[in-house]
Amino acid sequence: MELSRMMKAGILHKAGNIHCESIPVPEINSGEALVAIKAVGICGSDILRFSRGVSPYNFRVLGHECAGEVIEVGKNVTSVKVKDRVAIMPVISCGKCDFCRSGEYSLCDNFIRMGTRIDGCFAEYVKVSPGNLLKLPDNVDYESASILEPSAIALHSIKRAGVLPGDVVAVLGCGPIGLLIAQWVKILGARRVFAIDIAEEKLEIARKMGMTDCINAKNEDSVELVMRETRSRGVDLVFDSAGSKITFEQSMRMARKLGKVVIVGLVEEDVTLPQETVLAILRHELTIYGVYDTDTKPIPLNSWQTSLYFIEAQRLDVKSLITHRFKIEDIATVFKKIAGQREKFNKVIFVF
Ligand SMILES: [Zn+2]
Ligand SMILES: [Zn+2]
Repeated sequence: MELSRMMKAGILHKAGNIHCESIPVPEINSGEALVAIKAVGICGSDILRFSRGVSPYNFRVLGHECAGEVIEVGKNVTSVKVKDRVAIMPVISCGKCDFCRSGEYSLCDNFIRMGTRIDGCFAEYVKVSPGNLLKLPDNVDYESASILEPSAIALHSIKRAGVLPGDVVAVLGCGPIGLLIAQWVKILGARRVFAIDIAEEKLEIARKMGMTDCINAKNEDSVELVMRETRSRGVDLVFDSAGSKITFEQSMRMARKLGKVVIVGLVEEDVTLPQETVLAILRHELTIYGVYDTDTKPIPLNSWQTSLYFIEAQRLDVKSLITHRFKIEDIATVFKKIAGQREKFNKVIFVF
């Protein structure tokens, strides 16, 4: 395919300074594919990288939640062809370290992710190794496919701790990951899900997704309410998808004895716990799980593929998460708005 060989991309110069500029289209080698991006989501972590600059990694293009069309393949590429519709799995693992050899690719000692350590997908085109591409069925559109990455992370966080049919679950933080977790635990048999946030707009989306126990923690003491609703028992499983010191602490107090707490949201500050909460962790014999990225092990079915099946079957509602769509040309204003919290956003995507 003939390209002008220049493309638009969002270039991060330094903290707080991102602009849409014209840069050369990446050149592929014989083992790579060139993908024309059709939809790419802005992750909360992109906003953090924007706010603090990308150092220590030397790259300029953020974006790791995307889908597009293959428009060029190197001569040794056989697994994908031109015109294939694909999602990009952004993690590039070394394949050699102990964790890669045991299938834990996201824990790779030499972990690289497109858009977080090398140039990513806030661009018209991106070069990718075919092993990082997931082919899309015809009835999954690009916008939905751009939500595959957060869907896979949400599912992975549940797999870490395990959910049982009949479990009562609390999800603190109803951003995209939290709302996906809430949906997944319901699919997997949770009896009751408390969806908690301080933004009414996000709880509104939760209600639209069928969540009936929505708590606005701005107006109510969410721990007290959850304890009251569970007759002082607490919930079986708590997910902190907000990533704040407040929700971190609340998570520990909402779990029942022998309960499980999953920390998914990136905590960007020091967390100090009151002694009472620390004692609750001990006395209630809680299990705390950390979550990073997702599983891509082929067996059992990895979280990307599972997410794709559930999106295709329309059992996972990803479209309702998207509140804003923009053009890449708008990247400077969009990032400033989101970082400055001047407007309520859930999932924001760039469409091409
Ligand atoms: Zn992300
Ligand atoms: Zn590795």
